[in-house]
Amino acid sequence: MSILTISTNNSDIQFEESYITYSNSNSRPSKSLIVPEMYTLFKSIKDPLIFSDSLLLECLNYTFRSIIKINENVYLLDQESYKILNFTDKKFKIINENLNDKYVNYIIITNDLFTYPKIQYFYILANYFESVDIIMSQIMSYILVVCKKRVKNLNIEIKNNYIKDFNVKVDENILKSIKTNNNTFLENYINVNKKISNMCSSLSNVSNLNREIYTINKYYKAFINKECNIDCNCKPNFIFYSDILNCYICENCLVLTRLPLIF
Ligand SMILES: [Zn+2]
Repeated sequence: MSILTISTNNSDIQFEESYITYSNSNSRPSKSLIVPEMYTLFKSIKDPLIFSDSLLLECLNYTFRSIIKINENVYLLDQESYKILNFTDKKFKIINENLNDKYVNYIIITNDLFTYPKIQYFYILANYFESVDIIMSQIMSYILVVCKKRVKNLNIEIKNNYIKDFNVKVDENILKSIKTNNNTFLENYINVNKKISNMCSSLSNVSNLNREIYTINKYYKAFINKECNIDCNCKPNFIFYSDILNCYICENCLVLTRLPLIF
């Protein structure tokens, strides 16, 4: 499970607006969070296969028991209202203003944790909320930052959308676990896309590929909606080896296993 809790014991972070160094453009990925060679490979993948369109639900399911969608921007999670904010354009000024409205709980959606200022910002947020949890999807590059109960006004005045450095030192253990997660994701992503492009080059493999993609999508959907059927005898004709996931899948109950099933 990929959940990371940022706790700073509130007064641990010494931070002032005057510490902020601004920039004119987006930050580059940081070596403390990602292996540069892997990032280059990742960026070179042209038409990546997108698995699952319910990543928000996947990640919410890891921490909340009851999930009710009120509208596109508001969810009722374990009986508390949460405002959903997108941080895809990495604009700090906008996100910071949005975190100061009438809501007290927020879910920030962002695509990756590759840049240092972004981690610094989420780290600083732990000063202003009762808890800040980072939840990472196990399927695609997709991150939720769950900010529970704002305890004081977010009185950081951010003057520009692009930030080079908040000049706050993020805890080493947090950086390490994010880097491990990023690496695992990139490695899988690069491998899967390599396998798929190899399969596409051989006509006989294309039908296998379709079967795999179809079943994997079905598996993700069932996994997210907690619908995996465990009442199954896993008959041999339903079981095949998935090159993409590196394991056996039963097409009927969608159970995955690394061990060959013996009949
Ligand atoms: Zn089965």
